[in-house]
Amino acid sequence: MMMRRTGWSRREWLAGTAAAFGAGCAPAGEAPAPFADADVGDAGESAVALPEFEPRSMLHVSETRVEQPRFPVIDVHTHLTWSDVPLGPDPFGERIRKLGEPSAVLPVMDRKGVRTMVNLTGGVGPGLMVARRQFDEAHPGRFITFTEPSWNRAADPDYPRFQAEQLERDHAAGARGLKLTKTLGLYLREQITSGPLVAVDDARFDPMWETCAALNMPVAIHVSDPEAFFLPIDRFNERYEELHAHPDWSFHGSDFPSNAELLAARDRVLARHPGTTFIGLHVGHWAENLAAVGEALDRFPNFHVEIGARVGELGRQPRGARRFFEAYQDRILFGTDAIPSPEGDATPQQVFGDALYEIYYRFLETEDEYFDYAPAPVPPQGRWRIHGLGLPEPILRKVYHQNAERVLGLAA
Ligand SMILES: [Zn+2]
Repeated sequence: MMMRRTGWSRREWLAGTAAAFGAGCAPAGEAPAPFADADVGDAGESAVALPEFEPRSMLHVSETRVEQPRFPVIDVHTHLTWSDVPLGPDPFGERIRKLGEPSAVLPVMDRKGVRTMVNLTGGVGPGLMVARRQFDEAHPGRFITFTEPSWNRAADPDYPRFQAEQLERDHAAGARGLKLTKTLGLYLREQITSGPLVAVDDARFDPMWETCAALNMPVAIHVSDPEAFFLPIDRFNERYEELHAHPDWSFHGSDFPSNAELLAARDRVLARHPGTTFIGLHVGHWAENLAAVGEALDRFPNFHVEIGARVGELGRQPRGARRFFEAYQDRILFGTDAIPSPEGDATPQQVFGDALYEIYYRFLETEDEYFDYAPAPVPPQGRWRIHGLGLPEPILRKVYHQNAERVLGLAA
């Protein structure tokens, strides 16, 4: 895909025609003026392939480096382990692999003021035991591990009872919450990997949600994905480069439900299980529509949100985002969706390290303008930059750790 240059030549600008039109746009119906200047060349010579286009901002604006957060941080959304068994017939999550070593993760946490990391994908049964032994038990207070559903059993007739009992076993083994990836709604099928997709509000999971309520285990849930992932991968798609690089992230076409259908099913779950605490990851799965997320928070007192991998969305609507943080300051949890290198390298907005945390702190604490939301030469989730919210201390304290302490049942 090539960039096309539009606009005026310097000659036209000097001729004074600029005042006739708005800045930066050619008049409708007229072909873009050619660049006649010898040092620019014609359009063909100056065209830059989109992946090579790395414009540097010429804005002279303040740059605040925030190396430490104003208050200690609990990062409620990280991935330090991952199921070594994919979705399929074999026991999901019972064998895990480490994505990072505690010895490599802890120095970053210490430097960046991260008191505790919540490893959401801690696996099931023996996998969970391995994750907890190497992180939570070896470094008390620094790591918290969540468990996951046994997806491979979801087609079994006794699955509802089995899953509720497995959750009790994993809770007894030290799991502090339950994590659901977008597997539910977008990957899990009636025969696990074949047949119709299983809906987010399928009744077979009701005993699982109720067991979470009984055991005071919050549910970190990821439903749906960015709106653009449900649209064609074409020149109108604002996540074009990202989807072009990861075509398997597209949920356009096939038998996928729409974003609206997925979120409606989630709402039915929230309504049916008012005693269960849900943390809607990625700003309640709809960071592009904060009004809708606010409505869900108003409707469902058992719903909270987390901001991982969405400062790119929040920061491009800084005034609305600031109002959102003011209105829902008791319901927003700090999270990054951090994944250690090398696995995290493919998604720079999530790669665990000092740079990632400094971006989050700068976004939440400063009023800096127009800066990168990810440590990458090209903004990976869309070609825009973000603006800081400059949140006041009482809101920062809640978002950085107080809300998480309450939801996770930790002593303050
Ligand atoms: Zn995640």
